[in-house]
Order: sequence, then C-alpha cells, then structure tokens
Amino acid sequence: MIKDVLKGVVQIARAMGVTLKYFFARPVTNEFPNEPVAVYPRFRGRHVLKRYDNGLERCIGCSLCAAACPTDCIYVEAAENTDEERYSPGERYAKVYEINMLRCIFCGYCEEACPTEAIVLEHDFALAEYNRWDAVYTKERLLEPHAPSHIVVRSDEVFLDVPTWGKTNVKSKA
Ligand code: SF4
Ligand code: SF4
Repeated sequence: MIKDVLKGVVQIARAMGVTLKYFFARPVTNEFPNEPVAVYPRFRGRHVLKRYDNGLERCIGCSLCAAACPTDCIYVEAAENTDEERYSPGERYAKVYEINMLRCIFCGYCEEACPTEAIVLEHDFALAEYNRWDAVYTKERLLEPHAPSHIVVRSDEVFLDVPTWGKTNVKSKA
C-alpha cells in the first residue's frame, strides 16, 4: 500500500517536472499572420510562374508539366508569339495556364519536367479559399512577382531552436 502511494507520488513528481520544464521554455506559437512563419528552402508550397530578368515569361506553353502531373491538375493552352505581342522568348507562350490547387499533391513533378524552369514550387502555404473555384489558380495569379510578407525562408544551416515532440532539438543538414 505505502509502496503504491510512493510510486504514485514519484510519477506525479515526474509529470510535474515535464510540465515545469515546458512552462519556462520559449513558446513555439507563431502569431500568424501578424508574424511571418519561417520555412525551410526545401519546403514545397504554392507554384510561381517565373520570368526572365527582362520580364518575359519563361513558360513556352509546351505542356510537359501537365503531362508529368500525376493528378492532372494543370491545364495549358499555348499560342504563338508575334513581334507585336511577345510574351516569351520562344515561338509560343502559355495563353492559358491554370493549376487546380485542390487536386495538387505538391509532388514537384511539374517543375522537374519543365525545360525552362518556368514553374517552381515556392514557399507560400496560405492556400485556403472561401470558394472552391478560387482554388483554380490562373496564369495571372501564378506569374511573378509573388512575395508574401507572411513567409520568411530560413537557412538550412540553422539549428531548430524550438522543442520537438518527445525528442531533443534537431539539427538540420543542407
Ligand atoms: S506539384 Fe505535382 S500534383 Fe501539383 S501541379 Fe505539380 S505535378 Fe501536379
Ligand atoms: S511551365 Fe514549363 S513545362 Fe509547363 S508549359 Fe510552361 S514551359 Fe512547358
């Protein structure tokens, strides 16, 4: 009987020790969206259609990204550039470029397949919409620039300085 009571007291003391340890630890809560969230460079988030330095679009409307996509969520319609109306350096450009974000699984196959590095999965994760049709991202939405203030990209060299569930702090390797 006394042995059981002592065992219980020890267990409670151990549990309280864990509580006290985290009571004085730095909170891990992130005040999103008032504070930016730090993501790692390898994190794959929302797509961005890239431009060249001169402003021309990298996309040439070849549809290789759509062919590579396992969920069939990319739709590309190509058109010819003209001297009067030029969007990309090549013969063709993407007149229509859409991604259905509700179907996307962020596998990155589209950016792997792209010959001009036009489509890139960047770091934005704030993809919630009130209307499901707003989750179909048009070319105008996807084109650069897209630099949301709620994201900061942290270096792969830094240590995670927040407690992780049940483990000691994790060191990230590039
Ligand atoms: S990340 Fe994957 S699922 Fe999403 S659009 Fe690209 S290929 Fe398709
Ligand atoms: S994003 Fe790349 S792969 Fe997709 S249509 Fe444009 S150029 Fe082709």
